[in-house]
Amino acid sequence: MIVLKSPAELETMHRANALVHGALAVAAEAAAPGVSTLELDRLAEDYIRSHGGVPAFKGYRGFPATLCTSPNDVIVHGIPSRDVVLAEGDILSIDCGVVLDGFYGDAAITVPIGAISDTARRLTETTRRCLEEAVAQLRPGNHLGDVGAAVQRYAEGAGFGVVRDFVGHGIGKALHEEPQVPNYGEPGQGLAFKPGLVLAIEPMITEGSWGVRVDRDGWTARTEDGKLAAHFEYSVAVTPDGPWILGVESRSS
Ligand code: MG
Ligand code: MG
Repeated sequence: MIVLKSPAELETMHRANALVHGALAVAAEAAAPGVSTLELDRLAEDYIRSHGGVPAFKGYRGFPATLCTSPNDVIVHGIPSRDVVLAEGDILSIDCGVVLDGFYGDAAITVPIGAISDTARRLTETTRRCLEEAVAQLRPGNHLGDVGAAVQRYAEGAGFGVVRDFVGHGIGKALHEEPQVPNYGEPGQGLAFKPGLVLAIEPMITEGSWGVRVDRDGWTARTEDGKLAAHFEYSVAVTPDGPWILGVESRSS
């Protein structure tokens, strides 16, 4: 079932996502060589709770932390740990979810740790652009397939891989609502967008092949070939005026 949100509900989701982006900024600011991913997790959790929110991932299907911290070949769902210490040249994907006043926010960024390789920079920039290209599709009358097609066109045009095993999703009173939002697809196909639809759009792009393997912890998803992966995510509402990136752009709806 697709649940459309009212303007008042979108305003609440905007505030939930603002907390997500605040927590991501705190974690990104602290991410540096010698810092563990567990330290970033503590900072993000403190930020969220001190602003009246609740970390959404902690306890979700048994996930133990506030952030997913995914360095280098980890695509998504890396578990923060004192044993994962960042090093110069790493890239780190940070994914965060918050519940505030009954609604969820969900967003992710990939950040460089010190100086990174040209390939790492190009992959990160390409993934960010994939997200922007996808967000631009969130207009009334466009279709779900337009989102995936936009990501796929940009990523594959740059010579990179598009992960199939994980997808974006609807979001609202639940972290994961219908529909699923693949990062590949055919323009003009699938669900037609209406105002009030909110999608978490999250391209996961790889340096090499898009095959995935999951560690024995049941969470950590890596590239099968050990090459780099990047991940960016926004929660975005469809409005009559076009896409609204929740938590980032202010708007009276
Ligand atoms: Mg996320
Ligand atoms: Mg998500």
